[in-house]
Amino acid sequence: MVSVQPDRAARLLLILERDGSTCVWCGRPFSGQVRPTTEHVVPRVKGGPSWLENEVAACGRCNGERGHRTPVEWLEECRRRGWPADSARLSRTLEALARAIARAGGQRRARPYLDAQLRRFRRSGSPAADVPA
Ligand SMILES: [Zn+2]
Repeated sequence: MVSVQPDRAARLLLILERDGSTCVWCGRPFSGQVRPTTEHVVPRVKGGPSWLENEVAACGRCNGERGHRTPVEWLEECRRRGWPADSARLSRTLEALARAIARAGGQRRARPYLDAQLRRFRRSGSPAADVPA
């Protein structure tokens, strides 16, 4: 059972409305030079669905640089670089995805990856969120 999702361009607009028009990782506002891209929190290669609940907006640079890092690993790396990575937005998205999967079922490949990310968040509160510079 799969919920009907708007197409990719429409999803990106909805994501920007939901989360604001900034990169989740570096915090830069989107503009002509900083283009928004759709970032999968649980990567597609790990079975992450193309659902609004699994997507945040990231600039092309951050989206590309994250590579195969998990969202929490990349969040911590962004913090080390002094970027205001939005851990609240990431946490919200992970929780929303967990609820969406609980509702829709399936997504067997994405679940262990998502659960591991949620555990890292819940264990430490919000990872690297309040580390003094
Ligand atoms: Zn960025």
